[in-house]
Amino acid sequence: MLQTKNYKFWFCTGSQDLYGDECLAKVAQHSKQIVEELNKTGILPYELVWKPTLITNELIRKTFNEANADEECAGVITWMHTFSPAKSWILGLQEYRKPLMHFHTQFNEEIPYDSIDMDFMNENQSAHGDREYGHIVSRMRIERKVVVGHWSDPVVVGKIASWMRTAVGIMESSHIRVMRVADNMRNVAVTEGDKVEAQIKFGWEVDAYPVNEIAEAVAAVSEADTNTLVEEYYSKYDILLEGRDEGEFRKHVAVQAQIELGFERFLEEKNYQAIVTHFGDLGALKQLPGLAIQRLMEKGYGFGAEGDWKVAAMVRLMKIMTAGMKDAKGTSMLEDYTYNLVKGKEGILEAHMLEICPSIADGPISIKCQPLSMGDREDPARLVFTSKEGSGIATSLIDLGNRFRLIINDVDCKKNEKAMPKLPVATNFWTPQPDMYTGAEAWILAGGAHHTAFSYDVTAEQMGDWAAAMGIEAVYIDKDTKIRDFKRDLMLGEVFYR
Ligand code: MN
Repeated sequence: MLQTKNYKFWFCTGSQDLYGDECLAKVAQHSKQIVEELNKTGILPYELVWKPTLITNELIRKTFNEANADEECAGVITWMHTFSPAKSWILGLQEYRKPLMHFHTQFNEEIPYDSIDMDFMNENQSAHGDREYGHIVSRMRIERKVVVGHWSDPVVVGKIASWMRTAVGIMESSHIRVMRVADNMRNVAVTEGDKVEAQIKFGWEVDAYPVNEIAEAVAAVSEADTNTLVEEYYSKYDILLEGRDEGEFRKHVAVQAQIELGFERFLEEKNYQAIVTHFGDLGALKQLPGLAIQRLMEKGYGFGAEGDWKVAAMVRLMKIMTAGMKDAKGTSMLEDYTYNLVKGKEGILEAHMLEICPSIADGPISIKCQPLSMGDREDPARLVFTSKEGSGIATSLIDLGNRFRLIINDVDCKKNEKAMPKLPVATNFWTPQPDMYTGAEAWILAGGAHHTAFSYDVTAEQMGDWAAAMGIEAVYIDKDTKIRDFKRDLMLGEVFYR
């Protein structure tokens, strides 16, 4: 499910024909070596492809247009080894439509004090050439990532790797299709939004289906297929009967297995990668999809509760950006539920009625069957667990009427102080940066929602770069946030994004 295209990134080195063939041969040799070494690090999540040195207006324009047309190319990384007059880049840049990085590096790490002469200076002048190039990109107001440093530095390579994931998020954003089998919950404001504008800005297709169409797909799942999946659940998860009859419990679990299979087939058949449900609009479904949705999220589907299509698309986006990541700790929809306000132990208990992705779980995962406090259906089966420790980001995309704003909060996830044996849902617990009080105040001032798209594996920088590429406002709540400055950021946003 999480498979995306076999994306590649092009490495384009800029120069000009003033320096003679000998110099240009060295430029090509150096950039080839850099590409080879970068690919060898094992740090980059996608392959880097070397392209012949760009020295003329025609070649630059042609190369950028080839990058546009190549379905596997997710972005171009540019570097000016020598000086490259930037007017040569105008038409190519103007016609280029994919993510752009400016890698401000140079071939040699150290100045060769003993041997340096003017030939060396002319050949190795990215300090000079990259400024000329950077100027034209800024003048043309083109969004790009600038990474500075020597190409052999693992920190620098890590920055390129991180941006590659952002770039794939930018490319894949326009392939996200959200299926709504329920409208937004009545009277709720923050989960609403302009779906036409979301398609213009992010490329998301958000479509509605009658809930009973998907319920029919669920009913069509055979008993044999359902039982096979129930067996898988029983082998994978702990069963917490809590006094319930064993046979009846298993029947409740089977309802979720049938929903998982029916939903997945329906989503696959109709090519959707994210879904929203609503506990108040279940049609012929016997239970609110709980365990079923949790499993689908783990497979890479986006999900938003109560019709929250923005969160569904954001969860899917973050799943794409972290696809195939080594040691990934997980990505999920979450909801700010209740606080601990004891001094020194402040934090937010994150949960939902049911639908938390088990990718964020720490330790054993159990199945419970409990009544829902809302709605009028059978007691749904759900996966219960607590979550990993460590830093993560909580994001909320809101519609302000005239524009979207992405709120990004660095959070520190912690173990619950004590077990909560009576709570029948999965949880996470975090303290927002810079502290509980400033973090929550800033979140509320910014208009952030109670639903969030959360990830341990995506950084605030990546989400901010994605927002910039989409042309929307992003605000950061992190260790540096001060309310006075934050309010000014919001005011500036009002002017800039009007
Ligand atoms: Mn909710």
